[in-house]
Amino acid sequence: MAIVSQNEKQLAAESYIMNVYDQIKQRNANQPEFLQAVKELFKTIQPVFVQHPEYIKYGILERITEPDRIISFRVSWVDDRGKVQVNRGYRVQFNNTIGPYKGGIRFHPTVNESIIKFLGFEQIFKNALTGLPIGGGKGGADFDPKGKSDQEIMRFCQAFMTELSKYIGPDIDVPAGDIGVGAREVGYMFGQYKRLNSYQAGVLTGKGVGYGGSLGRTEATGYGTVYFVEEMLKEKGLSFEGSTVVVSGSGNVAIYAMEKAESLGAKVVACSDSNGYIYDPDGIKLETVKRIKEGERGRIKDYTNEHPHAEYFEGCNGIWSIPCDIALPCATQNEIDVESANILIQNGVKAVGEGANMPCSLEATDLFLENDVLFGPAKAVNAGGVAVSALEMSQNSMRLSWTFEEVDEKLREIMKNIYRKSVTCAEKYGYPGNLVAGANISGFLTVAEAMMAQGVY
Ligand code: NAP
Repeated sequence: MAIVSQNEKQLAAESYIMNVYDQIKQRNANQPEFLQAVKELFKTIQPVFVQHPEYIKYGILERITEPDRIISFRVSWVDDRGKVQVNRGYRVQFNNTIGPYKGGIRFHPTVNESIIKFLGFEQIFKNALTGLPIGGGKGGADFDPKGKSDQEIMRFCQAFMTELSKYIGPDIDVPAGDIGVGAREVGYMFGQYKRLNSYQAGVLTGKGVGYGGSLGRTEATGYGTVYFVEEMLKEKGLSFEGSTVVVSGSGNVAIYAMEKAESLGAKVVACSDSNGYIYDPDGIKLETVKRIKEGERGRIKDYTNEHPHAEYFEGCNGIWSIPCDIALPCATQNEIDVESANILIQNGVKAVGEGANMPCSLEATDLFLENDVLFGPAKAVNAGGVAVSALEMSQNSMRLSWTFEEVDEKLREIMKNIYRKSVTCAEKYGYPGNLVAGANISGFLTVAEAMMAQGVY
């Protein structure tokens, strides 16, 4: 038998990854966000293929980057003026090797196949990192909830679910919320699913607590983000206590990241929405943000009406020019580019935790890593949301409810475990201290091993 040298294994791995990436680029030329997510993973996984050359023979990369299926459908609904509106809905069922497809639904005018595929792809590895039996999926529609009445939101959700219901189920595919989809939208979709099928609590997560939702799910992604960053800080003898924090967004993830950071003694001085950001040097009054965003569904600008010493600035990028110790991008993809990363670094940022999905461009991520900024990647940092969603599925199956404290304790343990796994994998595969690589490799190995065990399909 020919003995293959380490060098030959490295060359084989490198050329395999490059060839697969070229094929993916050709096939998905008009999907920049999806290509960005694939590139981010591919940049770090070469050592895996050196250790596991059998993955090359079994086409793991070719298979894991091609969704099991993509469902695209028309959503017709009637607005308050009686006019028929048509949107496009999606569900990407990416990979169910380790469990039913699981991932949120996004309602935002920018939604297209590329966005849903990038989110679904990331979800595969994020879900694997949680250690829970959930596969990767994502869905959404190019529907803009802004300015719509409650009745319009309800009719849209019902129309969306009428089609989606054909493809989901508690053991098949379990959607949840994402941008533009919170408890209200999940409730309307759940109601419609129930009307079309029988009562199946486990078909959606993020439900209201009174009908199968888990306590702690609303807080999970934001709290989980802070728990993860807390672990990163601890390793360097740092903490949230006394730190200045900037958080982008003022939605579900941002609000609960701010809440937990504050409870750990940090001062959050800025947050934003898609129009602009507020800066409150005395510390953001979270009850005001909650009332404006969760209660009134208003604009973050309104904060200054009640707190006139705070300032409002139009536009989103400027938020990163506010000096801070910890930056938590919790709004949307590619919100931190090289320019913003450079400003954050010049201003002495110590840690960045990606509460949103892919909020930092590839180049911005590299800059943080090169400049020894503690960097927590989205796959790991924001996995707390889907982890508690999986706990909601467990509670639905067992027909019982855990207390808030029980769920929060489990969440904290899960986030600590994800941090540990990421650190260990980074070290083992030659990237000490690089949590991007560690999280990618850890999540990837879990799914790849299960794919090998289940044969080619
Ligand atoms: P959300 O409640 O809808 O809030 C989104 C926030 O981001 C809002 O403040 C929104 O501003 C802002 N935003 C949205 N699109 C923007 C854009 N293109 N430019 C600037 N700001 C924008 O959504 P969310 O659930 O907090 O999700 C935020 C991020 O976390 C997303 O990347 C999502 O994929 C990720 N994530 C969410 C969960 C979860 O459990 N919800 C779990 C994991 C990851 P407006 O109010 O003006 O729209």
